[in-house]
Amino acid sequence: MNAQILVINAGSSSVKYKLFNFPSGSLILKGLVERIGEKGSSVKNHLQAIEKVLGSVKEKIGSLDKISGIGHRVVHGGEKFREPVIIDSSVIKEIRRNIKLAPLHNPANLEGILACRKILPNVKQAAVFDTAFHQTIPEYAYMYAIPWDYYRKYKIRKYGFHGTSHNYVAHKAAEILGRPFNKLKIITVHLGNGCSMAAINRGRCIDTSMGFTPLQGLIMGTRCGDIDPAIVLFMAKECGLSWDEIDKILNKKSGLLGISRISNDFREILSQVNKGNKYAKLALDMFAYSVKKYIGAYILILGGLDACIFTAGIGEHNSWLVNKIRKDLNRILKPAPKVLIIPTDEEKMIASLSYKLIKKRLN
Ligand code: AMP
Repeated sequence: MNAQILVINAGSSSVKYKLFNFPSGSLILKGLVERIGEKGSSVKNHLQAIEKVLGSVKEKIGSLDKISGIGHRVVHGGEKFREPVIIDSSVIKEIRRNIKLAPLHNPANLEGILACRKILPNVKQAAVFDTAFHQTIPEYAYMYAIPWDYYRKYKIRKYGFHGTSHNYVAHKAAEILGRPFNKLKIITVHLGNGCSMAAINRGRCIDTSMGFTPLQGLIMGTRCGDIDPAIVLFMAKECGLSWDEIDKILNKKSGLLGISRISNDFREILSQVNKGNKYAKLALDMFAYSVKKYIGAYILILGGLDACIFTAGIGEHNSWLVNKIRKDLNRILKPAPKVLIIPTDEEKMIASLSYKLIKKRLN
């Protein structure tokens, strides 16, 4: 049976959307509503943004009755959601409960869900969580070595993010290699403005570089990645910075931007390296080193490597970095693992996971 699945990725000031046809998985329409709630914008809130999205969908396919289901990206599913789920009031309650774990993302994701439910109350909706793919990580890898009560009381642990992207490119890699997903040892390297890696052992994620928040792990566009946590205390005590200032420094002013002192945009960094800028060169070297270090660790925890997959803006467009890693891997591993660039498509993965869930209820 033919089904039209609408994917909604609601952020704080924008809503990205894509409409797919299933079972073929072909894209029918995509778009973006921006500047939600900004001064002078005609889109005052998420309800109006979703109305705009649905207006474009209606124009394209004739009637909103043709939408078979809606898949929503939700950043944080906490420990409860290991799989995508059909949204009901208890799911909404749980997403709301997880706002404290993802204060920048879950509120906007929820606004998108509530708006769709209000306008299309009879259409099945699914939530696909960025954290879900990482829920197979074993306890010894997701716990932090801080007193256990902080886990019990506050759920402080590694969750990992970008899960939908890691899941998508890892499955795509298995398809390209013509081998079963659950037989492969794969490292996925998502390098965009946010950067993260995942170690996937025979179909199960066993570790990922982001942690309790998306600040941990690799060096990113504006995020610092791994640092000694005592630096935060030093910034507060010795530099006299407030918690908000430290938050801004580590999330918005660090990473490639902080070191290069030029930009968080990789293209700009590369062009400055070519002009001989030493700060840009240092930022590039640190970035490549952090990727390499994690790959090394992941090879050992996987006990080998069949494929290393690069994706997202930086991963998809910078063959020199991919070639450098390929050369290193060829030198140390026999047989040499496959190193592939695979464009990510989180919306397509959300659509296909949602379709699987919604299909069961359409028959
Ligand atoms: P994303 O978050 O996936 O959109 O990735 C954003 C990052 O990818 C930015 O650092 C961009 O500079 C980088 N990027 C995007 N396109 C290219 C390109 N053609 N060449 C080099 N870097 C690129």
